[in-house]
Amino acid sequence: MTDSRKIAVIGAGQMGNGIAHVFAQSGFPVTMIDVAQAALDKGKGTIEKNLDRQVKKGTIDAAAKDATLGRIATSTSAASAAGDAALVVEAATENRDLKFRIFADLDRAAPNAILATNTSSISITEIAAKTTRPEKVIGMHFMNPVPVMQLVEVIRGLATSDETTRTTLELAKAVGKTPVEVSDYPGFVANRILMPMINEAVYCLMEGVGTPEAIDTVMKLGMNHPMGPLALADLIGLDTCVAILEVLQNGLGDPKYRPCPLLRKYVAAGWLGRKSGRGFYSYAA
Ligand code: NAD
Repeated sequence: MTDSRKIAVIGAGQMGNGIAHVFAQSGFPVTMIDVAQAALDKGKGTIEKNLDRQVKKGTIDAAAKDATLGRIATSTSAASAAGDAALVVEAATENRDLKFRIFADLDRAAPNAILATNTSSISITEIAAKTTRPEKVIGMHFMNPVPVMQLVEVIRGLATSDETTRTTLELAKAVGKTPVEVSDYPGFVANRILMPMINEAVYCLMEGVGTPEAIDTVMKLGMNHPMGPLALADLIGLDTCVAILEVLQNGLGDPKYRPCPLLRKYVAAGWLGRKSGRGFYSYAA
């Protein structure tokens, strides 16, 4: 039977563990699912660390921390753990074929759930078409870091129903976020605007226009951005940035979205940003 509050989150990476965190903190029972047990352990550890930080800041007390952790189960199998979920939020790696496979599987594994994807750029309409119920598929695009950022971009696919959209908007509000509804075009609004800026910053670095520190300082002090574009790219993950730019380039057919060769080179080297310890900047382990 479907538990009307049960949430399944697919992927325990930086976004998946953040999404599990905010739902559990708002009282929802959550199962976090990943193919890798190590990713689940790391994800749960990150949630605990972030909750500790909230306790230290006084925004929650120790009992709320324990209760939040107590509401998060983990599993390596969506087939066995997502069956009674009311909402599944998919936050696995940004890869079309992977997401298509996951949604075809979820269609069977979670027969009554709304199937939401946290994709940064991939077509909701196309993902939905891999299921037998495209009216129950929607984009629910949280921002990084999830516990801190206010926005959820809610993206309707071509067939997404009004009811699915209404429930998704309500769930975003129930975890304390502000949802904004947008249409399904490559990159939606957030990354359609953000990624060309990040890519241009990498071109500036490649062409020697400025050092990473200079480029980021210009954008912080000159544009009042809280973080420079290269530091932000490191936070997002450079592999994810390349994947999003490729979706923009292919989906919109305009070469202006081509990923900068230097960005590709960093990814090829395994310099993925914070998550690998090195990107445009170095991060101590
Ligand atoms: P990540 O690399 O930190 O985590 C991805 C996780 O997915 C890994 O733990 C991996 O083991 C897991 N995974 C891979 N295949 C899986 C499968 N079949 N089933 C279950 N788990 C699987 O990536 P991330 O930064 O958390 O990004 C996840 C999604 O969120 C992507 O679609 C990305 O575009 C989107 N997103 C990212 C950001 C960001 O700033 N990083 C912001 C908004 C949205």
